[in-house]
Amino acid sequence: MEKNEMYDVTIIGGGPIGLFTAFYSGMRELKTKVIEYLPQVGGKVTYFYPEKVLRDIGALPAISGSDLIKQLKEQASTFSPEMVFGERVDDLERAEDGTYVLTSHNGQRHFTKTVILAIGHGTLGVKKLPIVGANHFEGKNLHYAVDRVENFRGKHVLISGGGDSAIDWANRLEPIAEKVTIVHRREAFSGHESSITEMNNSETHVKCSCYVSDLIGKDHIEKVVLTHVDTGEKEEVEIDALLVNHGFDLDLGGIQNWGMTTSDGKVVTDAKMETSIPGIFAAGDIVTYPHRLTLIAGGLAEGPKALNSAKAFLDPDAEAMAMYSTHHKEFVEA
Ligand SMILES: Cc1cc2nc3c(=O)[nH]c(=O)nc-3n(C[C@H](O)[C@H](O)[C@H](O)COP(=O)(O)OP(=O)(O)OC[C@H]3O[C@@H](n4cnc5c(N)ncnc54)[C@H](O)[C@@H]3O)c2cc1C
Repeated sequence: MEKNEMYDVTIIGGGPIGLFTAFYSGMRELKTKVIEYLPQVGGKVTYFYPEKVLRDIGALPAISGSDLIKQLKEQASTFSPEMVFGERVDDLERAEDGTYVLTSHNGQRHFTKTVILAIGHGTLGVKKLPIVGANHFEGKNLHYAVDRVENFRGKHVLISGGGDSAIDWANRLEPIAEKVTIVHRREAFSGHESSITEMNNSETHVKCSCYVSDLIGKDHIEKVVLTHVDTGEKEEVEIDALLVNHGFDLDLGGIQNWGMTTSDGKVVTDAKMETSIPGIFAAGDIVTYPHRLTLIAGGLAEGPKALNSAKAFLDPDAEAMAMYSTHHKEFVEA
């Protein structure tokens, strides 16, 4: 059923950055809606690494992904934004009065004066293992994400990938797995230096310049075939679990047709998080500009910046930013 209610701000995406932006939008007394495609909040954190411990967010020396999202969710609910789940926003139309109409994949329409894109890499999809029949092992012992670390206890886990995710999982699983082998088709890894050092100093078996070329097994994978990229030499390795971290498929869906300036599939913004379309702002992983900090900590600062720009768009005489939260009437002790 279509609700014709007009919102000041509609945030597309309920990942960590969308959630914090929703909180800040309440701080600025804007009528706020969040639209999320998945049935839950948390974006990549909930989807890919709820049990991973994050250590690179200021004032939180160590926090699990799920606890981080729980706290962001609680914070976002302070000002009771409207939350819509299960809708992928695809289309944008500008009405005659300058407001926007968003249409979701199911035809539902949403009316808003401004839009903040917090869509990460779009709807979440991982790059799958390019082996015919590999999908047969999904839900068995071929994994693209780690739901529960405990599921890997005492197992030989083979990780395919050479970026941050693969290295993080090697380091996290190594103490509990019987053995971790990481396989990367290049000669060098491309993660954080400290994570690579941790991996190299651990018991993890590192195999470079080779890739998983075949899977052997009936109900579940019993062995993987590794092929050397230069020599073509093959080796069979017995495993209990295969974890593939080959990155994401960037799928912006209909949003890529909105006409915003993009670069490498990401939305280009200025320092105020303005996109090339007036009234449309962006924050988090979807954004690109020189020297962007590609961490949650970076996105958490961009959300309020985008929101302040939306506020200025709606009311050019408004203060440039909110007062400190300690001064906000919501938090002042009675
Ligand atoms: C394995 C892994 C480990 C990581 N570890 C760390 C770490 O230790 N520290 C750190 O700082 N960062 C880490 N990151 C990066 C971090 O997760 C991202 O920077 C962060 O999730 C970005 O948040 P976001 O809200 O911008 O996007 P996302 O988390 O991607 O959330 C975007 C949300 O938007 C929704 N969406 C997309 N398109 C639409 C649409 N059209 N309509 C409706 N909803 C839509 C998606 O469903 C998703 O829920 C890691 C990432 C991965 C994959």
